Amino acid sequence: MKTLFIAARSDPEAMAAMFRAELPGHDVVTKAPGDRPVHYAVVGKPLPGTLSSLTGLELVLSLNAGIEHLLASGEVPEGVPIVRMVDPGLVEGMVEWVAAQLLAWHRNLFVYRDQQAAGEWRQHGELMARERVVTVLGAGALGGPVATMLAALGFQVRTWSRSGRAVAGTATFGGDDLAAAVAGADALINLLPATAATTDIIDAALLARLAPGALLVNAGRGAAVVDGDVLAALDAGQLSAAVLDVFRTEPLPADHPFWAHPRVLVSPHVAAPTHARTAVAVMADSVRRHERGEPVPHVVDRSLGY
Ligand code: NAP
Repeated sequence: MKTLFIAARSDPEAMAAMFRAELPGHDVVTKAPGDRPVHYAVVGKPLPGTLSSLTGLELVLSLNAGIEHLLASGEVPEGVPIVRMVDPGLVEGMVEWVAAQLLAWHRNLFVYRDQQAAGEWRQHGELMARERVVTVLGAGALGGPVATMLAALGFQVRTWSRSGRAVAGTATFGGDDLAAAVAGADALINLLPATAATTDIIDAALLARLAPGALLVNAGRGAAVVDGDVLAALDAGQLSAAVLDVFRTEPLPADHPFWAHPRVLVSPHVAAPTHARTAVAVMADSVRRHERGEPVPHVVDRSLGY
């Protein structure tokens, strides 16, 4: 009998019950079983030493789409595949969250909120979605559906990815074409993974290429953004607002200037939470495929870091 160890820190017992229903015939445990091998480990952000103490690992099933912390820990042996979380609940969450932020900004709700605080009744010219260009950085499991949804709302959407992956209804740009992908864009949505190649990618030079008064939305990872450059662009009016869900240090430190900036909206890494209701089915499917000797989807390419 193969053992699946849920090393998740939040409500592992509830998840264990779901796994037992999905994978009868497996030993599903929520505590490391001592000397016995663990074939599958389900992890979010495991405490240091959790993974390195296990033997017999065949798959690491990540509860998160971003896995940079697992690679950085060095605790997953080279030959053991890490499977990223790609599931319908995560996609739906991200699509909703980005739509909410972009539409709120597009229809001037941030401006009207400030006017309400001042008791000011003043109407602004409203643009149509078709008059706005939105660039989505990252065209993967999350960036692709987000871009498709924004195009369906009528925005002129561009996507940028390493391979120039095609996304229906959008203008697609590849690795070398970042400058063209963001040129004159009214909104920039970051959905890139955290890798060496994406660190500090949203800097002063890139922000200067956007249309004046653009919106920045970061739902990828905090390390993509040069915080000081975003603050400078906001103060100069090059950005009219920044909606930030992810940060270099989380929780965002109490003294970070993002907290108090009037044109920054901080949310506490909630854009696309993992829902066990959908995620367990996806992870169980990976286990079944592995046991049938079939390829398991969404295995991390360690050479690329995502
Ligand atoms: P994914 O399916 O791996 O897609 C990543 C996309 O980024 C791909 O299109 C990839 O290009 C592109 N990319 C990677 N490195 C690049 C580079 N150097 N230059 C240009 N493009 C590059 O990942 P995902 O599932 O969409 O998730 C994306 C990220 O969202 C995660 O890594 C995580 O950090 C973040 N996330 C945040 C939350 C939240 O709550 N805020 C929740 C879930 C995920 P190719 O298509 O060519 O491979």
